[in-house]
Amino acid sequence: MLNEQASANNIKGVALSSSGPSIISLFYADDLIITGQANLQEATNLITTLSSFLQISGQTPNWGKSSILFSSATSQEERNIVKGIFPVSDFSAATTYLGHPIFLAASTRSAAYFFLVDKFRGISSLRANKLSHAGRLTLIKSVFSSIPIYYMSHMLLSAKLIRKLTSIIRKFWWKGSLDNNSSDGICFRSWKDICRPKDEGGLGIRDLMMMNKSLVIHSAWNFLKNPNTLIAQVLKHKYFPHTSFWNCNKHTPKSAFWSSVLKLKPILHSSCIWQLSQGDISIWNQPCCDIWEKIHEHNNTTALSLHLPSKVSELWTNQKSWNTPLISTYFHHQAVHSICQVQVIPHLIPDNLCWKHTSTGDCSTSSAYKEINRHSLLIPVTPEIRSLMNLIWKNKLIPPKIKVFTWRLLSKALPSGVNLNTRIPAISAHCSRCGQLENEGHIFFHCYFARLTWLISPFHLNTSRLPPDANPEHYICCLLSTYNAKFTIQRVLILLWQIWKARNDKLFRAKH
Ligand SMILES: [Zn+2]
Repeated sequence: MLNEQASANNIKGVALSSSGPSIISLFYADDLIITGQANLQEATNLITTLSSFLQISGQTPNWGKSSILFSSATSQEERNIVKGIFPVSDFSAATTYLGHPIFLAASTRSAAYFFLVDKFRGISSLRANKLSHAGRLTLIKSVFSSIPIYYMSHMLLSAKLIRKLTSIIRKFWWKGSLDNNSSDGICFRSWKDICRPKDEGGLGIRDLMMMNKSLVIHSAWNFLKNPNTLIAQVLKHKYFPHTSFWNCNKHTPKSAFWSSVLKLKPILHSSCIWQLSQGDISIWNQPCCDIWEKIHEHNNTTALSLHLPSKVSELWTNQKSWNTPLISTYFHHQAVHSICQVQVIPHLIPDNLCWKHTSTGDCSTSSAYKEINRHSLLIPVTPEIRSLMNLIWKNKLIPPKIKVFTWRLLSKALPSGVNLNTRIPAISAHCSRCGQLENEGHIFFHCYFARLTWLISPFHLNTSRLPPDANPEHYICCLLSTYNAKFTIQRVLILLWQIWKARNDKLFRAKH
């Protein structure tokens, strides 16, 4: 009904730019935002339309929960006229909608979302410190990582807030405690190592900063891919009315969403390419070939006197292939080579914007995350650890707590005497049973207790035959490859876990 009134020019709505479309109403679930000009005629038309709708539908608006916002240019007299028709209170500056502040000044952008910190801390009521590392991993992946997704989808949260949220998760992972006053606990591995994908030797926890970026990239992709939607039209007319998104001016005043998109534009630049079919896109401001961003620098000087083509299809022959002699008249050799490399689809379908990193050409948050993660510089884990952990993560017979324990063992993240002593010299580096240096090899294979355990276990293994100073992954691979079928990976790992448990019982509960 509102759209009918708008078509009849009875209501005008509000446009965010001089040439952009008017926004008449925004509707989400049972919430409705109506926009209009602050004058008697438009307000009367709006209330008449609204009354007709209420009469037909039998619904009643809750005026007590409704509020009104005027632009600063609206005079007091105009405000009084509109408020005489819509008897609602003024918008409060602190109003939020589904958690998002309606008014979000750049100076208060960080503070506006700090309630997320309280939400994270609130999870301490779950008695989190009773959880094993496997339980903590599940809680981090299912709860901590999902809470901020909604708020991260349309703007980049401040680095300070992300650091605070990450520190809460990191503390919870290492210490299992979310109390505010205690220290962070000992971090045996960097958080970046932990956030690696599982098949690269990490635990597959999503890094919040990269997750935030991938969500905003996905939102940007949605409006780039659907240029006729209302939001895409509003953004185009407000921020790049005379060019494409790819060449838009980054110095205009901008919303939190738009400034976030512009910060991530380099990733979009390098990840998007047009699949050419009709050739309707511009040569000069669209990603049509590898060197499109600097295509102006590749112009032949003689071409400046020619009539330059605008659409890609103007560089094709009648058979829809690249017209190399023609292209050579406009561009230098490198540009000619780059343009002619692009494959042209023979079918008559619209040109299609593609995401380079998926086979379907569609951008998903996970592919955007992988692309951002690809650029993070991390020291690779050894192929031995990577293949062993891949085998373990995929094995459904191994309980989750044993899997996470093995990750800690192979990542040198168990609090052995040596690992603790390098970080806190006051803690002894020696074994509580025999007094030798307590590294992973000693605890699990060479301490007399471990030797006896392996010997009387169903494996009947004499560990003194194993090399004395190898890494745990080497020992495990040795057992799996050298001995007979008794050495299934789950049985080996369960025995290692039992040796670790017995070591802790001896150390902390004085059991022998
Ligand atoms: Zn020992």
